Amino acid sequence: MTYQRILLKLSGEALMGQQQYGIDADRLMQYATEIKAVAATGVQVAVVIGGGNIFRGVQAEHFGLDRVQGDYMGMLATVINSMALQSALEKMDVPTRLLSGLTIQRVCEPYIRRRAVRHLEKGRVVIFGAGIGSPYFTTDSAASLRAIEIEADVVLKGTRVNGIYTADPEKDPSATRYTEITFDEVISKKLNVMDMTAFTLCKENNLPIIVFDMNTEGNLERLIAGESLGTLVTMTPNGDKQPSDSSAPSLLDPKHSGLQPLAGNQPEQA
Ligand code: UDP
Repeated sequence: MTYQRILLKLSGEALMGQQQYGIDADRLMQYATEIKAVAATGVQVAVVIGGGNIFRGVQAEHFGLDRVQGDYMGMLATVINSMALQSALEKMDVPTRLLSGLTIQRVCEPYIRRRAVRHLEKGRVVIFGAGIGSPYFTTDSAASLRAIEIEADVVLKGTRVNGIYTADPEKDPSATRYTEITFDEVISKKLNVMDMTAFTLCKENNLPIIVFDMNTEGNLERLIAGESLGTLVTMTPNGDKQPSDSSAPSLLDPKHSGLQPLAGNQPEQA
């Protein structure tokens, strides 16, 4: 499968590298280098980066704070990471735009779907900051939602583990990796890929997910070049894109949302 448009999800936690908190400069440069290489091949790249290296909403209670306030703090953390990635990419002469789910007009554009698509068509790397801009969501959900909205071909979830395993490979040495798996199998086997909201969005909209190890240098490029890395999650066992269950149309499916189809990147027909 060759991709025209990808949504890369990077965790904020991975950005810490070996540190306990914040942004590791080497890791940041590694991510920017890999994104630059992929963008140079002509693939349109959108990125969502988490905020777990700075703040997560669930930590709010620990500080005696209100959860919603904590979630907004988490969203702002993703903006900090997004700004760092944007800056690293621009240092490497990669044109970028940062579009935020929260309005912070001095540093980023507000998220407007059509504008995001236009930037991508012009070859700019688009970074989506502040998640979806609402509390009680995660950046995985933001990645799924934005990917569907911009009609990305795939969500590439970069993690520190090289795919989905039968059990947690860091705890169970006998765990084996799936190269391919269906959405239904992930649910029936209770495997942890993304939070349920994020995962369901992908399933309902027939958007494949690849979980891969982003911390091994060159993996993103290898993946885009067609190497089978990590685990591919699709609707059917052979990885075909099949239409979702038409008896349960999703409001997020462009066919049902009233959104205009975007020129040049039509969803595949049944
Ligand atoms: N967050 C939110 N709404 C969103 C996206 C993120 O409220 O749409 C908050 C939430 O508190 C989350 C934090 O931002 O914990 C950081 O994002 P996340 O935990 O997804 O980052 P990651 O685990 O990828 O580093």
